[in-house]
Amino acid sequence: MSNIRAIRGMNDILPDETPSWQYVEGAIRQLMAGYGYSEIRLPIVEQTELFRRGVGEATDIVEKEMYTFADRNDDSLTLRPEGTAGCVRAAIQHGMLNTPQRLWYAGPMFRYERPQKGRQRQFHQVGLEAFGVASPDMDAEVILLTARLWRLLGVADDVQLQLNSIGSAQSRSDFRVALVSYLRDHFDALDEDSQRRLDSNPLRILDSKNPDTQALLDEAPSLTDYLDDQSRDDFNRLCALLDAAGVEYSLNPRLVRGLDYYNKTVFEWVTDRLGAQGTVCGGGRYDGLVEQLGGKPVPGVGFAMGIERLVLLLQECETLPQATADADVYVVSFGNEAQSEAVAASERLRDAFPALRIVQHNGGGSFKSQMKKADRSGARLALIWGEDEVAAGTVSLKALREDDKERVGQQSVPRAELEQTLRALLAD
Ligand code: ATP
Ligand code: MG
Repeated sequence: MSNIRAIRGMNDILPDETPSWQYVEGAIRQLMAGYGYSEIRLPIVEQTELFRRGVGEATDIVEKEMYTFADRNDDSLTLRPEGTAGCVRAAIQHGMLNTPQRLWYAGPMFRYERPQKGRQRQFHQVGLEAFGVASPDMDAEVILLTARLWRLLGVADDVQLQLNSIGSAQSRSDFRVALVSYLRDHFDALDEDSQRRLDSNPLRILDSKNPDTQALLDEAPSLTDYLDDQSRDDFNRLCALLDAAGVEYSLNPRLVRGLDYYNKTVFEWVTDRLGAQGTVCGGGRYDGLVEQLGGKPVPGVGFAMGIERLVLLLQECETLPQATADADVYVVSFGNEAQSEAVAASERLRDAFPALRIVQHNGGGSFKSQMKKADRSGARLALIWGEDEVAAGTVSLKALREDDKERVGQQSVPRAELEQTLRALLAD
């Protein structure tokens, strides 16, 4: 019988990796709270229509990346490819948008893409959405929060902020006309993808990876020249706020982002340490989205970052904390009577030291094999319960790490003094 394997592009995150994830998630949780954001938890499956309307028909995601299926009732459902649409849906549904809201979420997302390093079919995002404030101080806050995260994680020198304003829907549509007209004159010089996009989503041609297309774009009309006054003012104000806070950025007039719902500010944090999958975090403003999904016109700004890419970056930059052992104390015993005492004593120790990691040896075995396990566990101390100890009313305590061996060695401790002895030992 052949073994069942995980689906391509959907990875297990194994115990030797989870500490890195918990470290990153912990930093994010602390940071979000520090800026006044509340966590929202959303379903993984939504009606397909939500993403068609919320992400946009002409996007890569909706065109070719969604996991869409009919449920038993023949409703079309989709595994969420991103978090913003669901967050907006929930905020509308629960009437949360009458006042400004600062929300964040985390969890798995699903896109049918070609799996490679930093690109999976199930991947994880942390995202944030700030609703109800149209002015660029909110854009600045969101960007400053991300900048602080890179500092917290020790990768601030390895990521760069790219910034652009794509203006109002009107300025974009004026620009679109000019761009399409220019590119139509050079249609044959465009790569195949860009030729296709010329009708469906011409702005996406701006981030084509094809060098010939990029060369052609050097002479093309620039989105910056089409910005409406309000967008230009807001963008200048955002830049001024970032300058004042000392956050560096480069202006990238070709940054448009893949999702349809953006307007005004768009930004990406990119790194050159992860090869082709170099975007760690992307976001921007989406003032029309809430209305597009059936709510009142409420402005919004947010971002999403990929946790796999972030963990890879931290590995690459060697800024992850050292792995720690799984145990502090390893408990071994011989014979039923000793085992009963050992198990009960461990429970009492867990009452007394809730943070202490006490691993009980289960399944028996020789003294030698049990002590080998104790050593491999990485624990500092072994507690040994044998027949002699039971008879004498004591327990043996043995230092397992070189640093402790001289000071602690192996000692016999009266049972009644175990807690006190441990407390003294662990305090050093
Ligand atoms: P890319 O251009 O790399 O496909 P994107 O523009 O599609 O990215 P967004 O939809 O903006 O990405 O998602 C925000 C972040 O989520 C990305 O910057 C990236 O870090 C992460 N991400 C997106 N797709 C994947 C994926 N398939 N696997 C891993 N991480 C991903
Ligand atoms: Mg993508």
